[in-house]
Amino acid sequence: MPFDFYAVVVGSGFGASVVAYRLADAGKKVCVLERGKKYPPGSFPRSPRDVARNFWDPASGLFGMFDLWSFRRFEALVSSGLGGGSLIYANVLIRKDPNWFVDEEPGGCRPWPISYDDLATHYKAVEEMLGAQRYPFDHLPYSQTPKTIAMREAAQKRGLDWYLPKLAVTFGNPHADPVPGVQIVEEPPAMYGLPRDTCRLCGECDVGCNYGSKNTLDFNYLSQSKKRGADIRTLAEVRRFERWEGGYRIDYVDHSADAEAARPTKKRDEQKHVTVTAEKLVLGAGTFGSTYLLLRNRSAFPNISPALGTRFSGNGDILSFLHQARRHVGGKSVPRWLNPGFGPVITSAIRVGDRLDGCGEEGRGLHRGWRRSAVPQLARRKQRCVRRRATCGDVRIAARTGSRTRGSTEQRQRGRRPPVRRRTEIFHLASGARHGSRRPRRPDGAQARRSRS
Ligand SMILES: Cc1cc2nc3c(=O)[nH]c(=O)nc-3n(C[C@H](O)[C@H](O)[C@H](O)COP(=O)(O)OP(=O)(O)OC[C@H]3O[C@@H](n4cnc5c(N)ncnc54)[C@H](O)[C@@H]3O)c2cc1C
Ligand code: SF4
Repeated sequence: MPFDFYAVVVGSGFGASVVAYRLADAGKKVCVLERGKKYPPGSFPRSPRDVARNFWDPASGLFGMFDLWSFRRFEALVSSGLGGGSLIYANVLIRKDPNWFVDEEPGGCRPWPISYDDLATHYKAVEEMLGAQRYPFDHLPYSQTPKTIAMREAAQKRGLDWYLPKLAVTFGNPHADPVPGVQIVEEPPAMYGLPRDTCRLCGECDVGCNYGSKNTLDFNYLSQSKKRGADIRTLAEVRRFERWEGGYRIDYVDHSADAEAARPTKKRDEQKHVTVTAEKLVLGAGTFGSTYLLLRNRSAFPNISPALGTRFSGNGDILSFLHQARRHVGGKSVPRWLNPGFGPVITSAIRVGDRLDGCGEEGRGLHRGWRRSAVPQLARRKQRCVRRRATCGDVRIAARTGSRTRGSTEQRQRGRRPPVRRRTEIFHLASGARHGSRRPRRPDGAQARRSRS
């Protein structure tokens, strides 16, 4: 075989890990290239100094876990590290509703090529591999989780459907009652060879679980791939790829020396570039990462659709905050402490019907009552807060919270309207522009000169 590998898989998030595992399990020679670091149990930063540096920006000497993409009216937080989004996600494994495998509008989008039934066995396989368990709300101390109790009460009051979704977290050992903080009975996962503990209910899941209780992809799909011979390389950022001898030639930057020294990556011609070849190339670098890579390398693939990188949409999540919660005790309204630091970040869910359920509600899971919920109140509160802070001179905070008022502090102080980012900016980034650069460019990137990293 003229190739180094049968397949090179770029990224190590949900998409990439499953593919890497399936290929390795089928006896294929696989290489996983992940730009971020490994995060064994105990390695997620917690001190303010380290957390402040926990971002992905190699050009500034940062090789951390959070990567923020910013566009006009559209911001996304993704993860960089072995395990991808699983390192920072909220562990919730909900199957897509069978009703939702449909054509959206008559004559609008095309029908889904797959149905729920096609996926059912795969859902089951993934849940097993990720060690899905429900929050053991019928056992102490779990049954005393204030936020879970409050969610259940809220659902009961409004006649809504409350339930405990499957979570990729280990609460108890097989055939034993769940107990916080006991060692998980298993052969230590191949990736780190370290023991793990059952969930300690610390609520830090979104900044990385230091106890190994969260069943992130490095503990299952990636460990299993490694056991089957996959070559897993971290701090390996793919930059270029092209067709070669009927397969692909892939070029990546090895950041390991710079990450160890915590220094900014060297200039382009001084960086350590490594080239590997493979019969198959799998892009699993996430929605933004894969699109960015394809656009950046589009000259090598002239048949790529011009639609690539356009028509992005958020996933419809609404992040809402509950504040100043109160309860009635003896006819008096008293503060109710929901203690977000007790229990995993998400423990329970409320399912709200939509048009497809035939209950007349509009939108996927967007309940009529949301208008009365904390979201708009919080938004109004935030605006007031921003205005107040801005008049106090704290323009930095105002800039952070006001999503449409980007631009430098200086520009805002002078009252100039800051330039806004275009929805098509992913074109510019891919064509060699930096985040935040404000030079006008054409969508084909002809005027772009600087590299993103
Ligand atoms: C805070 C938060 C909570 C969430 N909670 C949930 C939840 O509870 N349940 C749920 O179902 N979903 C949740 N999600 C969404 C979920 O995490 C994502 O949908 C999922 O991670 C996407 O998987 P992916 O494989 O497409 O990409 P990712 O998981 O993002 O993986 C992409 C990987 O590719 C790597 N990469 C990118 N570019 C390169 C490159 N050039 N070279 C090499 N490697 C590269 C990245 O470092 C990353 O590791 C949450 C997301 C966030 C941010
Ligand atoms: S609550 Fe704490 S111990 Fe449990 S999964 Fe989340 S981070 Fe890990």
